[in-house]
Amino acid sequence: MLSKDLPDIESILALNPRVKTHAQIMSTANKKKEKKHWKRNPERGCDSCVKLENNFDDIKHTTLSERGALREALRCLKCADAPCQKSCPTNLDIKSFITSISNKNYYGAARAILSDNPLGLTCGMVCPTSDLCVGGCNLHASEEGPINIGGLQQFAVEVFSMMGIAQIRNPELPPSSEMPESYHIPIALIGCGPASVSCASFLARLGYDNITIFERQKYIGGLSTSEIPQFRLPYEVVQFEIDLMKDLGVKICRLLIHDVTLLFHHIPKVLYWAEIW
Ligand code: SF4
Repeated sequence: MLSKDLPDIESILALNPRVKTHAQIMSTANKKKEKKHWKRNPERGCDSCVKLENNFDDIKHTTLSERGALREALRCLKCADAPCQKSCPTNLDIKSFITSISNKNYYGAARAILSDNPLGLTCGMVCPTSDLCVGGCNLHASEEGPINIGGLQQFAVEVFSMMGIAQIRNPELPPSSEMPESYHIPIALIGCGPASVSCASFLARLGYDNITIFERQKYIGGLSTSEIPQFRLPYEVVQFEIDLMKDLGVKICRLLIHDVTLLFHHIPKVLYWAEIW
């Protein structure tokens, strides 16, 4: 035998990429190892840090208009074994959402993005794409350069946010009253930052219906709210993603006690430790 097909060859070669019904799981360590095969520009790390004082290079000068987004989406080759996808830490189905944008199906594009990553708009705006998906794009050496994947992601989810559509519980799940007892246990997440928002969204999508995020600050959103400047990530974006999570019934509580060990007495299961202070 001269060559052997990959196990998922059918979906890789499918002409019309489809929205996946579930998120893919791949460890960050494996993703970093795999990314090296696809990276087309030099790896950036702390060894090559540049001084960031008074450096505003990362300001996005424009966001894509509809015309700009369509033009960019049509430029994409929809590669069979897309390296952009293989370089994305959140395993976004990139060619699928770009195909939806080029078909003017902005809802479908946002659905593909938010299914794999509940923080799809934040990532579209602040993700270091030139080092990740864009760094692996097959069009890197072309005259017009690689596809502006972050810009397309931001465009699709921004259009979706303007539609004002709420996130709904998976209709294929049985009603909450018929779910097994384990789906009703109280789950506490500590700190309302990106990690908790993402974790709570995925748990709620699985059918867990008693999830509470405890936050000790007066604001929610964690680092996305307190550290990333407004010109890179406005508060409304963080609020939009938190509202989507709350649509599924996740509660957020202000934590007034400083001794977090007390929490263990009140909540039987602390599933995820997002922030320790
Ligand atoms: S590698 Fe570039 S051209 Fe190929 S599917 Fe990804 S974004 Fe499109």
